[in-house]
Amino acid sequence: MRTLRTIAELRAALAPHRHEGLRIGLVPTMGAFHEGHLSLMRRARADCDIVVVSLFVNPKQFNEGADLDAYPRDEARDALLAADAGVDYLFAPDVHEVYPPGFAATVSLGALTEVLEGAQRGPAHFEGVATVVTKLFNMVAPDVAYFGQKDAQQTRVIKQLVRDLNMQVQIEICPIIREGDGLAMSSRNVRLSPDEREQATALSRALRIVAEQALAGESDADAVLAAGRAELDAAGVSTEYLEIVDGETFAPLTTIHGSALAVVAAWVGSTRLIDNHPLSTGSIAAQYAGAATAGSN
Ligand code: AMP
Repeated sequence: MRTLRTIAELRAALAPHRHEGLRIGLVPTMGAFHEGHLSLMRRARADCDIVVVSLFVNPKQFNEGADLDAYPRDEARDALLAADAGVDYLFAPDVHEVYPPGFAATVSLGALTEVLEGAQRGPAHFEGVATVVTKLFNMVAPDVAYFGQKDAQQTRVIKQLVRDLNMQVQIEICPIIREGDGLAMSSRNVRLSPDEREQATALSRALRIVAEQALAGESDADAVLAAGRAELDAAGVSTEYLEIVDGETFAPLTTIHGSALAVVAAWVGSTRLIDNHPLSTGSIAAQYAGAATAGSN
């Protein structure tokens, strides 16, 4: 695996592969790799001829300077892990390479970026994400790019970006990788104390409760959410939001239907965590049960 620092080096390295017609996959990351990141890299390795991983802690998507400063960084360890996952190129540019003096562009995507994560972290968060992903797509020109469902709203933002700006890249969304006790893997998990690590399991438990109640046939979002919030409160985490939203628009739902998604953001001590879980409604489960019964008769 080669580590590349400049856009010129990156383009020079990829040009011959592109000329040969090889399929280039990109996994954008901010480093501090865990199994979630590695699952995206392995998927890219399986699908593509050339795998590029970008490692760039994007200052434009951080709404708090303290969060940016405290973001875990260990490039040497990341490089070993990426090489082990079969990555061909680690693109790890300096901040000035990505945002040279005078940089002024912003990619803004409207309503979808103003709710939930956009409301809590401010409009600059998803503008920062959309801007850096646009730049990375222009730098790498990948055939396909891989993102994690862990950042569910971000995946929708990226899809809208690609659609609205006619970008020629296929977007693949990979499932959430969790610890054995359900905690969604995150680079921020390393900041949790042992007690906080225990508290943090409340997020996935709350989502599971919501999902189970929906599956059992409760379609009233408020009723289902109350049970989930109680779980978060009992664990002593500070909930920013626990909502049921449409999985496409991220608009809040009062009645749970087919493509609903439960999403949560909460502070555990000074660490902000997010998670999500798709909801299947009782009526759908009943339909499947009915179909299975009909099929067996
Ligand atoms: P990050 O370095 O946090 O910006 O994440 C880089 C990519 O890895 C994003 O597409 C994330 O959604 C994805 N990712 C982060 N955590 C997980 C996880 N637990 N499971 C799957 N993908 C993840």
